[in-house]
Amino acid sequence: MALLTLKDIGKIYVSDTNVAVGIRGVNLEFDKGEFVAITGKSGSGKSTLLNVISGMDTYEEGELLIEGQSTSHYLQPEWEDYREKYISFIFQDYNIIDSFTVLQNVELALLHIEDRRERRARAMELIRRVGLASHARHKGSRLSGGQKQRTVIARALAKDSPIILADEPTGNLDSVTSREIIELLHEVSRDKLLIVVTHNFDQVTEQATRHVRIFDGAVEFDHKLRAPERWEEATATEKQADHKKSSLRAVRHGALLGLDIFTAKPKLSFFLCLLMIIGTLGIYLTTSLFGGAGALFDKKYMFTPIEGRLVLAKQSGEILTDAELASLASRHGAKGYLHYDALLDEGEFISVMIPGVQKDEYLSASFLFGKDYGNDIVGRYPEKSGEVFLYLPIAYRDTVGKRELKLSEILIGDTAYTLVGCKYFVDNNLPAECLFTEEGFRAATAISFLSTNAHRSLYLRVTDGEGAMKREIKLSDVRVSFDMPADKLYIDSKGYHNYVGTETEAGREHHTELSFTSIYYKYDYTLGESAKSYDYTKRFTEADITMERPKIGMLGAEYRADGIIISEELLTEIADAVLSRSYLQASLFFEDNRAAHAAADKIHAEGYIAVPADTTYEMSGEEAMITLLSATVIGFGWLLFIIFLAFFINLCSARMLDAFKGDMAIMRSMGIPVRVIRIGMYFRMLICLIPAFLFVALAALLIYTTPKFNLYFTYLYAWQYVLIAIGMLLLTLKTTRSQIRRLFGESVKRALKGGDAA
Ligand code: ADP
Ligand code: MG
Repeated sequence: MALLTLKDIGKIYVSDTNVAVGIRGVNLEFDKGEFVAITGKSGSGKSTLLNVISGMDTYEEGELLIEGQSTSHYLQPEWEDYREKYISFIFQDYNIIDSFTVLQNVELALLHIEDRRERRARAMELIRRVGLASHARHKGSRLSGGQKQRTVIARALAKDSPIILADEPTGNLDSVTSREIIELLHEVSRDKLLIVVTHNFDQVTEQATRHVRIFDGAVEFDHKLRAPERWEEATATEKQADHKKSSLRAVRHGALLGLDIFTAKPKLSFFLCLLMIIGTLGIYLTTSLFGGAGALFDKKYMFTPIEGRLVLAKQSGEILTDAELASLASRHGAKGYLHYDALLDEGEFISVMIPGVQKDEYLSASFLFGKDYGNDIVGRYPEKSGEVFLYLPIAYRDTVGKRELKLSEILIGDTAYTLVGCKYFVDNNLPAECLFTEEGFRAATAISFLSTNAHRSLYLRVTDGEGAMKREIKLSDVRVSFDMPADKLYIDSKGYHNYVGTETEAGREHHTELSFTSIYYKYDYTLGESAKSYDYTKRFTEADITMERPKIGMLGAEYRADGIIISEELLTEIADAVLSRSYLQASLFFEDNRAAHAAADKIHAEGYIAVPADTTYEMSGEEAMITLLSATVIGFGWLLFIIFLAFFINLCSARMLDAFKGDMAIMRSMGIPVRVIRIGMYFRMLICLIPAFLFVALAALLIYTTPKFNLYFTYLYAWQYVLIAIGMLLLTLKTTRSQIRRLFGESVKRALKGGDAA
């Protein structure tokens, strides 16, 4: 049975302006071992014939039989298979990939050899066979025409297909080289069907077994010149058997190809990498800059969600006592309790002023105590009330101090504190925290209680010896110093004049009695409301008043130029007197939230309101609107930028990939399956993504360890990085896919001709 049978084959080219006959009524049979020379004038249809035989061009009439099998039902994939199994094509203009080395070009046809070393050895053997051993590592672009054609022949050999088609393979070569090439072709194709189109029959007279002449699209004559060489019935088709098709194989071949494509065009690959880096980094930085939007979707907690915290109040609205709390804690297995816990939840209203940061920027901080921040701290933990430890975003490191504290004093509210230590964190989504001793926390609560608040008022009353009130001073105008003797008041001369003394005709009149008294206290607890007036009186005499200014530090000095200053102990005493009669709420602390939830049920049954701190609440309509609105605006800005970037990447990479068009057509003409090429292209793009991901990792590291940057870029969590990576991956795949569509949309033949046949 003949290897190829052409029955009455006709091919017509139809274009807008005219109809051209490619070939018509061609009846030919070809077999293995034959060396068929095809001649004919230019335009007679020789190329058309080869294109039809190779399956690169369709035909309208007649039929092509392959080993007796009809091909009339063939579609694109079947022709691809056919080309992969049967055909090696050699063109006049040496279709090798210029950016690949000789070795890479040949290895391309050997992808079916799994072992890398074996593949290399086999390629080298073939390269030697065509006499190019010394050029194996040269790029295609550096070869002469003859050398290129030898490479093509080596590649055809590598493929070991039963049919070699050559369309004027020596058309661009001098006569000596031409002879060498024909001889080489002849030598390597003794057991194959070799069809050579040539305009110079003289070159092939010695080797050709048959001479077919085409005239005007039809066979003019078909001369047998000599008997075809004998060949062993066997190999070719058998060898094809291990050209098994499996997806895994295609992926492996594609990966190899992708790597080759990546390394073959270093400049292009470099620019693609650069593009990916710009794109990925751009998306990362935008996301990080717009990162605050994420916080809008954060849960709204009723209380500061400290792990294991349970907030309590009595269902009856009565006041909790310390003894009651202690009993509850021990009976329900709590680690501890905090009676006056309001500050835990007021944290964000309390601003810590750190001088020198962003021109005295205020940093809102949460109050926490008894927390372990680990070993890696600067300075030490607080040991007494006036000392504070800060847990800060790393952005503050340069101001506050890296190994040693640069600052010794900070202001919390209006009160000067000694800064004794700090610790930095890089996740700038976290709130900053102040750490006190337990005593200090109580003082801080008292100070906050004293600070200006419409619902809390406490007055320092100035009365004369008979108890008549002379003046009333709001307590929020009184400051606290941690360096004051316990029961003393400091009143500077101006304050004395304004508040304590009265000018009379005789001179300055001194009042002998001062007292804190008449407290009106209203507080909206989450778990209740308390509004009461008390009479709390503490008397001072002239002897308790000192004119000696307490050490209050630089910061404090500015704020207390004409103030009244009391000691921490005095303030705590006053606050305690009020709070113990009005404070409705308290917190218990358990091992974890689960334990808090479990205890909540039991404690509730005992007549308490018990709310675990991780309980959330629904936003009010207005709040929800504002949240939605700002999230939409920020999200839209972010999206706009991402879309812009995606367009940019798509456009640039499409441009760059166009340079790849010719190479791909060559690979296809070689019979490398489209899906392998496709996988190869995807793979190359994925390789280009690797440096982009590395750069992002590097940028992230830089941002989170460089205090200055940490201020501007929101910390992203692992899942956000994963999302960015997936997004980039999808974008890359999509870009590559549309690119592949464009490249594969054209026929091989047209692509090879550079699209001139359109
Ligand atoms: P040869 O290779 O013998 O020089 P071809 O096979 O290239 O001849 O061309 C045969 C005929 O078919 C010519 O008349 C040519 O103009 C026409 N032809 C070839 N390719 C195309 C095409 N893509 N579109 C239209 N006409 C074509
Ligand atoms: Mg031609």
